[in-house]
Amino acid sequence: MTAPLRTADPTIVNVALGARGYDIAIGRGLLAELGARIAKLRPGAAAAIVSDETVARHHLAAAETALSGAGIRAARVVVPAGEGSKTWRVIERICETILAARIERNDLIIALGGGVVGDLAGFAAAIVRRGLEVVQVPTTLLAQVDSSVGGKTGINSIHGKNLIGAFHQPILVIADTALLDTLPPRDFRAGYAEVVKYGLINDAAFFAWLDANWRDLFAGGAAREHAIATSCRSKAITVARDERETGERALLNLGHTFGHALEAATGFSGRLLHGEAVAVGMALAFGFSARSGLMSQAETDRVLQHFMTVGLPTGLADVAGDLPDADGLMTLMAQDKKVRRGKLTFILARGIGASFVAPDVDPAAVRAFLAEKLAAR
Ligand code: NAD
Repeated sequence: MTAPLRTADPTIVNVALGARGYDIAIGRGLLAELGARIAKLRPGAAAAIVSDETVARHHLAAAETALSGAGIRAARVVVPAGEGSKTWRVIERICETILAARIERNDLIIALGGGVVGDLAGFAAAIVRRGLEVVQVPTTLLAQVDSSVGGKTGINSIHGKNLIGAFHQPILVIADTALLDTLPPRDFRAGYAEVVKYGLINDAAFFAWLDANWRDLFAGGAAREHAIATSCRSKAITVARDERETGERALLNLGHTFGHALEAATGFSGRLLHGEAVAVGMALAFGFSARSGLMSQAETDRVLQHFMTVGLPTGLADVAGDLPDADGLMTLMAQDKKVRRGKLTFILARGIGASFVAPDVDPAAVRAFLAEKLAAR
């Protein structure tokens, strides 16, 4: 993590959503340009920065300096770090702070943080004054390649993850890859699972590139920027084709049906980070695909081997502590938004880079598969 602060011009990826389209700027040191970029896009707008305590400690002062340097008035609201903040209580506090700071209809919200802050700030922006604009400044790898792009926002319910929310696209995403230098290695690795996801969905060449270059990506510099830009391009294309997830956007949920159930089973806690749950979920989705005769076990093993090499979990055996039985996990999966009329919608694969939406997977087959994996723990 020793790359120079500023290497070259940023890579710009456009999300082509017509009037709601926006740019994702990717590069080292871009936080310093936050104020100038916002002033150019929305001259005269004030802002409220939403961040969490950890990110604020590392990067809030730099963000505020960038804004004041461009003459932008900025309020701030800082919430506790972690998934536990995705609640009504925290949303209420964010909304009330934004209103108390007299942020008006033509002002904007800035999400400075990981996926948790992005989801919270985006949701607050969707509902305060019936809709304020939001700029996403993702500070985790997961947020830079996934959650800051595409407009999904929301909080968790006692009934499950992300069950309350809104679609609300940002007007700009600034992914400063230098911000990842302060990210704990475990969080970086968890976010990397979402990078691999794009290869597994529909880009076998990207998976092969990651398999060969992941060390450079972890170290920073050009490989990291390339991987983030490739991931954003992939997500941007999918979102532009299917913004509201009526079809192919569901592919982005690869590993998430199993993953969300495991996150719920482990209490949305540090026991299993979101990206780790997605890694286990993808390993299970590929394992189930091989079991169902859709693809070879050898190709599934290539996926598992890659996860193992980078230090990601590859199955239920890697989840510490007790887990519910197969019926318990099935119940948790039934709360997932991917359930329609009793049939499970899964993302399965015919190979690496050949994932597809399977809308009517037999729950009994999934239950038997999970029971076997649980027994082997
Ligand atoms: P996170 O936001 O909780 O961040 C992980 C940890 O890293 C936190 O403790 C945070 O304080 C810390 N952190 C963040 N940036 C840092 C930095 N630069 N330096 C040091 N520490 C830093 O978690 P995450 O993994 O970024 O995101 C997970 C969340 O994203 C989940 O709630 C998930 O549901 C959501 N998500 C949303 C979408 C979407 O499309 N909206 C997609 C994927 C995931």
